[in-house]
Amino acid sequence: MTTDYYDLLGVGRDASDDEIKRAYRKLARALHPDANGGDPDSEARFKEVTLAYETLRDPERRRRYDTFGPEGMRGTGAGSGDMFGGGLGDLFDAFFGGASAGGRQAGPRRGEDVEIVLDLRFEEAVFGVERSVTWRGLVTCATCSGSGARPGTTPTTCPDCRGSGQARRVRQSILGQVVTTVPCPRCHGYGEVVTSPCPDCRGEGRRQQDRSQTVQIPPGVDEGTTLRVSGAGSAPPRGGVPGDLYVHLRVARHERFVRSGSDLVTQLHVAFTQAALGASLDIETLDGTETIELAAGTQTGRVVKIRGRGVPHVRGRGRGDLHVEIVVDTPTSLDKEQERLVRELARARGEEVASGEGGLFSRIRSSLG
Ligand code: ZN
Repeated sequence: MTTDYYDLLGVGRDASDDEIKRAYRKLARALHPDANGGDPDSEARFKEVTLAYETLRDPERRRRYDTFGPEGMRGTGAGSGDMFGGGLGDLFDAFFGGASAGGRQAGPRRGEDVEIVLDLRFEEAVFGVERSVTWRGLVTCATCSGSGARPGTTPTTCPDCRGSGQARRVRQSILGQVVTTVPCPRCHGYGEVVTSPCPDCRGEGRRQQDRSQTVQIPPGVDEGTTLRVSGAGSAPPRGGVPGDLYVHLRVARHERFVRSGSDLVTQLHVAFTQAALGASLDIETLDGTETIELAAGTQTGRVVKIRGRGVPHVRGRGRGDLHVEIVVDTPTSLDKEQERLVRELARARGEEVASGEGGLFSRIRSSLG
């Protein structure tokens, strides 16, 4: 299932919903097991293209796939295989105009996933931090404990499906007679009907509420890292498992440090005398002050490495390094005494320098005689 979903359907990444639907319809007709005598290869391909279609037809899932790729689909229902729990007939039926698949799900009902963005300071991403995130989301209704039934009453078994939540349908399709299972129209697949709904959630079993969650940000995370807090998403309607909370991290820039994987890079400006003669220099790292030894004759662009002062490896032990790029500054304003000394140095080294009398214009004019 590593194949690109767009490739599977044979459409471009900018394909419209309609193009995606048409492409899938065509492939589904050709690959559907009923049309291929149960050929396992066709069935496998049918599942693949159906998964691709189920992902790309949903704007939210498509956006997630475009952003995170197939990895981002883990734990969202798509790609976890449980889509096929009810058999292919249901999907096929849903696509070709049968009952909506919305009310039917394999296994326990699942609440929606919640996605939020969390802004971190640079140092928080490097060293990790505990942060509290807040959002408005769905929680199980406390009044009815999620049953949806008015306190003192209980939901009753649906008389139409006798609690199975399913109804069978036989109908003619382009592939001949098809027997499908659809959600019971009376109880919408719950198997129970609420005759006296809870007044606080109107029978839904869940309510909007301000929510908060403490999130442990591990050291070494970076821009684009997404953390998943299992079960911290929305409560499902009338019982089941809650969705997950996805926290997308955004990391602020630092004025002195940039990241290169698990290494940090910074610049250190040094005087030309220090570069020429060598020096012990203090530098502020994220861990405090460190001393680096500048060798005599250091050039601009030389990189001095401080081991273990980079970013912790987000998986595993140890830290990256801090790379200090040296920039040799040329002095811009020498006083009289300093200028005299530098000229003496130039003379001693036999280096020709400007006379220092007047600016560029007067020097050119005097050279013209
Ligand atoms: Zn309630």
